[in-house]
Amino acid sequence: MSSTRDIDALIDLMAKLPGLGPRSARRAVLHLIRKRALLLTPLADMMQTVAATARECLNCGNVGTADVCDICVSEKRATGELCVVEDVADLWAMERSGSFKGRYHVLGGTLSALDAIGPSELRIPRLIDRVATENITEVILALNATIDGQTTAHYIADQLDGQVSLTSLAQGVPIGGELDYLDDGTITAALRARKSV
Ligand SMILES: [Zn+2]
Repeated sequence: MSSTRDIDALIDLMAKLPGLGPRSARRAVLHLIRKRALLLTPLADMMQTVAATARECLNCGNVGTADVCDICVSEKRATGELCVVEDVADLWAMERSGSFKGRYHVLGGTLSALDAIGPSELRIPRLIDRVATENITEVILALNATIDGQTTAHYIADQLDGQVSLTSLAQGVPIGGELDYLDDGTITAALRARKSV
């Protein structure tokens, strides 16, 4: 039996992380082993905690450790503005920019004929429900400037037509660019200059 079997297994798992290939995974694991007390042990403990507690908000799809997330619970966030994003990473990017004070709705992807993803595979029915039952005055479509992102935006705009004010982030979001890759200033500018759909 190889004396490095466990370490190899850890490297294989780490290499599955986005942005890490086998080479970066090997370097990361070596670094963790060298910083066992400072990094490896606390990281292992925290991963166990998050594995046990992380869940999706039943209302908006954000990731947290409660059934309903802090943003949905906070009365301060009940501004009537609902920002629709594809992914939790996009929500976190908007939050980092600090420019949006309302609530979110995470779709969990985009419509895609190719991958057979229809409205009910996403949180679109829940979105329509929220617009009808929460005091939403404006829905801001902050979807990525990809073909699927824009197809999804048009579909949602059709579904909500006449029920609520609909806007989308201004140009400035690069084609194919994901919100998570934008700097905070660009997100803030795109939000301020949002336009009616
Ligand atoms: Zn929530």
